[in-house]
Amino acid sequence: MTHDACAQLAAEHEALIQFLYLSPVGLVQTSTDGEIVMINPISAQLLMPLQRDGNLTNLFTALERVAPELRHLCAQFAQPSGMVCDGLHIHLNGGGVPARRRPQVLSLSLLKLDDSRLMAVLQDVSEQVRRERQLRQNDAWLNALLTSITDYALIGLDRDGRVSEWNETIGRVTGHDDSVVGQPYSVFYPQDATTADQVGDRLREADQNGWSLDEGPRQRADGRRFWGSTMISPLPDRDEAGLDGIDEPGEPAYCMVVRDISDKHDAIEQRRHALFADHLTGVANRRAFFEAAELELQRNRRAPRPTALILIDADHFKDVNDRYGHPGGDAVLHALGGLLTRTFRQVDVVARVGGEEFAVLLPSSTLAGAAAVAERLRLAIARQPIVFDGRQIECTVSVGVAATDGEPVSLDTLMKRADSALYAAKANGRNRIECWSAS
Ligand code: GH3
Ligand code: MG
Ligand code: MG
Repeated sequence: MTHDACAQLAAEHEALIQFLYLSPVGLVQTSTDGEIVMINPISAQLLMPLQRDGNLTNLFTALERVAPELRHLCAQFAQPSGMVCDGLHIHLNGGGVPARRRPQVLSLSLLKLDDSRLMAVLQDVSEQVRRERQLRQNDAWLNALLTSITDYALIGLDRDGRVSEWNETIGRVTGHDDSVVGQPYSVFYPQDATTADQVGDRLREADQNGWSLDEGPRQRADGRRFWGSTMISPLPDRDEAGLDGIDEPGEPAYCMVVRDISDKHDAIEQRRHALFADHLTGVANRRAFFEAAELELQRNRRAPRPTALILIDADHFKDVNDRYGHPGGDAVLHALGGLLTRTFRQVDVVARVGGEEFAVLLPSSTLAGAAAVAERLRLAIARQPIVFDGRQIECTVSVGVAATDGEPVSLDTLMKRADSALYAAKANGRNRIECWSAS
């Protein structure tokens, strides 16, 4: 061998050592019975924890506990050279280790180089295995959501809140066919249970908070009602899409999940009733009214729209009590509550805010619109005496109507406006309505 050839061999050897040393995967060269000839740092790192005595001399011995089949596989391998095993997964913390610990998995490929040498390639694939497992779990979770829970409708909405495409869950829960595509999502609500403004409010709320949840009456295609919860959330890549200007109408921008919770409704309603209903009349109590009204006026501030408030006070109610007794007065209040509930929309908040005083908040209503309903109500009460204990109780009410006039105002201000209108109705002879005006 010439000096040059020698030097070249030495250089190649050095390069191979370098390669072994720096290789991002574990490399182990062994004899056919597993005795380690060469091992790089990564392999040592991966195999060392398996070797109880820290004496890493034989690959098969090192892996005996976790891959006992290895020695056998090699003995069985008859060909002069080739792949003994390719990407064999070795679970390092298999049996006996609590499942909640992260899996630690090695991948092993074993190459027979010739009849005396083996090369093992080792890799830590724990992270990859963990991710695959997670993906499978997500898959299972999604499948459960899509196939085995029958009371969900998954609905894609475009950026304007219109249904972007039909699917089976929509058909199953709401009875709508594909003609629902392109309609605003309020198609799933009874007509008087939401307003166009609220439809926009929920989308904005979802944009701001990541989700918007509301619960109430929903409607099937055939008009039948059910009690539903609705969750709207923006789709994850919507922001980028918006920035790129490809957030077109018709493209899904929100995901809406409508659940039929009619069966849970009774229990929920009982709880709600105990907290937010007035016991005598069944309408909302003061607390519920102020909470709902406050929320509506907050929305009004973000996206101005007319909001009306009606205050209703029974006339000379002391006299009613005096003539028919307190139970007679109670019967009148109960009847008034029922009449109010039937007169106003589902979306209006009807409440008893004082002894013989009621308040109604009308979202997205003008002063004129509210005044028209108020007048209808006044007339109906005046015309229809309340029957109590075989006697007819005549009763009238005075009504004050106010509204936000384009400018967002506080609830306090709106209440004061309605109050001064009510005061005027009393002063002007009772059994009448008065509307607030700036003058
Ligand atoms: P006005 O036309 O000026 O409103 O006269 P009014 O008598 O209705 O006014 P006032 O506010 O002086 O009296 C309200 C009466 O309502 C007094 C109270 O006894 C009665 N009242 C308040 N709460 C109840 C209730 O829960 N049940 C009954 N039966 N009466 C009530
Ligand atoms: Mg009063
Ligand atoms: Mg009164």
